Amino acid sequence: MADYWTEYAWFPDGPVGAVRLSERYGRWEAITTGVPPGPGDIRLPGVAFPGFANCHSHAFHRALRGRAGGRRTQSFWDWRATMYRLAERLDPDSYLALARACYAEMALSGVTAVGEFHYLHHDIDGRPYADPNAFAAALRQAAVEAGVRLTLLDTCYLTGGLTADGYQPLRGAQLRFGDQDVGRWVERVAALADDARTRIGYAIHSVRAVPTEHWRPIIEAAGDRPLHLHLSEQPAENAAALAFHGATPTRLLADSGALGRSTTAVHAIHITEEDRHLLGTSGTWICCCPTTEGDLGDGIGPAYDLNEAGSPLSLGSDQHAVIDIFTEMQALQRHQRLRSGLVQQFTPSRLVAAATAHPSIGWPDAGRFGEGDRADLVAVRTDSHRTAGADPEQLISAATASDVHTVIADGAPVVQEHRHRLGDVGRLLSEAVDRIWRAR
Ligand SMILES: [Zn+2]
Repeated sequence: MADYWTEYAWFPDGPVGAVRLSERYGRWEAITTGVPPGPGDIRLPGVAFPGFANCHSHAFHRALRGRAGGRRTQSFWDWRATMYRLAERLDPDSYLALARACYAEMALSGVTAVGEFHYLHHDIDGRPYADPNAFAAALRQAAVEAGVRLTLLDTCYLTGGLTADGYQPLRGAQLRFGDQDVGRWVERVAALADDARTRIGYAIHSVRAVPTEHWRPIIEAAGDRPLHLHLSEQPAENAAALAFHGATPTRLLADSGALGRSTTAVHAIHITEEDRHLLGTSGTWICCCPTTEGDLGDGIGPAYDLNEAGSPLSLGSDQHAVIDIFTEMQALQRHQRLRSGLVQQFTPSRLVAAATAHPSIGWPDAGRFGEGDRADLVAVRTDSHRTAGADPEQLISAATASDVHTVIADGAPVVQEHRHRLGDVGRLLSEAVDRIWRAR
């Protein structure tokens, strides 16, 4: 139980001054605006935002940072080959250490919930572990220890690719991702259950990794839980879908009944006007991952147009070349400005809405300051050399993760005075990454 007072707190229309937030049992019990600080209040600096949601993560990719962009990486597919070499080296213990450090880094940037698009399921050659959800258990433990809520988006991954000739078998590292058939995937994920800090959601890895005839059981398993999928990240995926199915990936998903308000399409970059209409009118979420999309040369998608067409937006740090939700907001804005020449741009409120899209990962009672909502909070300093002088309403265009002073998730302090409760997160990351690349 605690009472916080902040100079500004962010509400759907922007910042409001002099706000007291009273937390009881992990929820906001009372929120009062325009009041002076009381004697027992904990005073927070700067602007308080509701906790950020990182809606697209592959935690193990954190071990690729600064290692996968050398001269030999000339395309997305070269980067993927390096990622597969990493995937071959992980076991549940080393993944626990890496994910714990990665999620702690997220918390330092203000993240209070993460959507983990989880496709590394099995041992080498695809053999199940004694606990077939051993990696999922590691991710759950990692999130608890790092102080972020987890939405485990268990991902079906059955084929190694799609060409004009059809679906290709899994090979090499991909064998660790597969459950052989969709029935076995359904059986494995049925053993996963929600708890107070974890939600189970589902994912179709992509049009190239799950043949269309197997989508129905996945959509049925998802029901009204979050269903995520990679969509049209690279032109090659679209070309293969058109060559083999005679339809775009979006059209195939629409025809299968996969689109809708509990579905999130990640990337949605290379899409047609018809695709945009299908996504927007169905209210399908679009998860933009601008730093990853830039790093991998994916392209700049029509995020603004999709948002205008009816798709709410969320943000993800995806491969974690950067973990900084402010940088994602800024990159989303800049990409759309570059695309349109300033004609199309997001208001700060729309960018913060994308950064706080907890409902898209199954947390409808988070991502806003409302009485009864989860007591998440990110206090961002306005007096650093980066943010000094910024109007609170435009603070997100100047701040970085380094300006995050305090993070509270479900009422529990996770970051205080820029320090994570686990201690030196740089050291945790170094140890976890070194251990993986040195192994064997
Ligand atoms: Zn991804």
